[in-house]
Amino acid sequence: MQLEMDKKKNGLNTICTHAGELRDNEFKGAIAPLYMSTSYAFDDVDVKRYPRYFNTPNQEALGKKIAALEHTEAALIFGSGMAAISTTMLAFLKSGDHVVLQQTLYGGTYHLIVEEFNKFGIEYSFTQGWRPEDFEDLVKENTRVIYVETPSNPLLTITDLSRIAGIAKKYGLISMIDNTFASPVNQNPIDFGIDIVIHSATKYMGGHSDICAGVVASTQENIAPIFGLAKNLGGSLSDYTVWLLERSIKTMGIRVKAQNENARRMAEFLASHGDIQKVYYPGLPDHPDHTIAKSQMKGFGGMLSFELNESLDARQFQKALGLIKSSMSLAGVESTVLSPALTSHALLGAEERKRQGISNALIRFSVGIEETEDLIADIEEALKKVKKVHKGQLQ
Ligand SMILES: *Cc1c(COP(=O)(O)O)cnc(C)c1O
Repeated sequence: MQLEMDKKKNGLNTICTHAGELRDNEFKGAIAPLYMSTSYAFDDVDVKRYPRYFNTPNQEALGKKIAALEHTEAALIFGSGMAAISTTMLAFLKSGDHVVLQQTLYGGTYHLIVEEFNKFGIEYSFTQGWRPEDFEDLVKENTRVIYVETPSNPLLTITDLSRIAGIAKKYGLISMIDNTFASPVNQNPIDFGIDIVIHSATKYMGGHSDICAGVVASTQENIAPIFGLAKNLGGSLSDYTVWLLERSIKTMGIRVKAQNENARRMAEFLASHGDIQKVYYPGLPDHPDHTIAKSQMKGFGGMLSFELNESLDARQFQKALGLIKSSMSLAGVESTVLSPALTSHALLGAEERKRQGISNALIRFSVGIEETEDLIADIEEALKKVKKVHKGQLQ
């Protein structure tokens, strides 16, 4: 039923299109059939297929594609990125254990830790920065897990994956990464020694702002305890959405490469613009972590952040944009912006935001696949409007 592929022999877009594909042998249809059954007759009592056991035909096929994309042996698909993150962390942490986490985590992950971990008796420490020493300094006797996110949200800092993997090996920890911002197109953390790779597939894997899903990829050995907990917690994804996600990933390579290129051109345009004070993009040579980014990323991604000059109102600027929408999520084919201080990082509080370097003027930009010239024109137009109109006069 399955087309087995040797991932080493095939390039990115071939893996995206074909790896793990389910063949329609009966009718020879071009795309994978969708198996919505929640019940499967026993041929062999050892294989009990059931959606919440993460082993329906569509789940297994997509798991193979994701494993091929992340250079791992196995992968599981979840109902959301947070289901993947929470299940994976709790599979490796028990009462009395300690986890070291990067400071600038996705908001949902941060809330999972600070709102839930005390209940389970799991200790945690957040780093003060993203240098490897910041992590190593926090490792204690009972530390079990080290958790990173790179590029980070919203300042696009880069954490050195080889060195994090080295720390994990030295102290016998499991290293985990949220690889959402990079996508497997731009970064394969397993190649640098990281143990477990997690994605919110809601973002680049889905890519069209119409799927909520999560994935975890690692060795069979690491996936086994994650699966063990996952079937008890019950965070599986509906097969219909699994099928849609498989379809989306077929174009992930070409989408993300287009987004990389658009983001690079937007970053260069913004960096050279007189009304822009600062641009954060790991692909720019003057980004403080550019060298590390170059050593571990194949592309610099479609996310960037920037600050307008102080005299310009960032909120009015976002309202004045036309083509580029203000929106919470990211990584769709459409370009979006948001103000981290008002949305994703609002709950951190002004003081902590200031400490992390997230100013009120900061704008996070998820660059889509539109023509670069049209995005530039939209920004130029919005800048003209905010310069002309006094604060508060735009609606
Ligand atoms: C969106 C996101 C998540 C959470 O994923 P959901 O699919 O919304 O549960 C986790 N990490 C990062 C970096 C994200 O952007």
